[in-house]
Amino acid sequence: MAMSPAPQVLVVAGSDSSGGAGIARDVETLCRFGLRAALAVTAVTAQTSRRVVAVEPMPPALVESQMRAALSAGCVRTVKLGMLGLTETADAVRAVLEDHPRTPVVIDPVLASTSGRRLLEGDAAAVYRRLFPLAALVTPNVPELGLLAGGPPAGDERGAIGQAKVLLAQGARAVLVKGGHASGADAADLLVTPEGVQRFVLPRLAVTLRGTGCALASGIAAQLALGRALPEAIALAKEWLHDLMAREGSPDGG
Ligand code: PLP
Repeated sequence: MAMSPAPQVLVVAGSDSSGGAGIARDVETLCRFGLRAALAVTAVTAQTSRRVVAVEPMPPALVESQMRAALSAGCVRTVKLGMLGLTETADAVRAVLEDHPRTPVVIDPVLASTSGRRLLEGDAAAVYRRLFPLAALVTPNVPELGLLAGGPPAGDERGAIGQAKVLLAQGARAVLVKGGHASGADAADLLVTPEGVQRFVLPRLAVTLRGTGCALASGIAAQLALGRALPEAIALAKEWLHDLMAREGSPDGG
């Protein structure tokens, strides 16, 4: 009897040589949930845990070939977009995804490293606006949400919800605003959809860890690939990230 092929998540993202963020973190997360990764590498970066030393974008046509090859095998259940690097790469990614309209796409908007190096050239808000109609979920943190919605970082939940609605109006089906960069005893993420707002709250840990954005988006993509509904996928991925931070995070002085 033929075994059914293992479900995969197609990760479209950059490599971080330090292993802290990007594809290494994505693959680690997918393994944790028993899923295989298919990869489209958008850029190769040289990084230490403190700074970005070099960034080399891959040719957009090569990114497109990697995606089409991965999708042709028929095992990809969901797609996760991380660092895209170039406007031309984002356009190539969009062209491929438009040919696979039934595959859910989780978009982690990667604009810059924590150390401040830009990881997407060109007009980021315009680049992502063209991708949002393909998104089952977009996962910005508060500063990224401000940049994408065309305003300053939101100062409170009402402001964040208002900005998330701008992304919904641009075509995203759901927006998860990550509260990790805010302050307070709890780390609250807000899921904003046309139906309403749902809060996901866990105690805030006084630690930092690189690649948490990558891990959360990949965890959600993994859970969607396993057939979970979006709110459950978010809750499970958030719990896994909380455990990972408790195990591997370093004190941030908080
Ligand atoms: N490098 C790559 C390849 C990434 O994909 C990302 C984030 O997604 C980063 C760096 C930024 O990570 P951090 O914010 O932990 O510096």
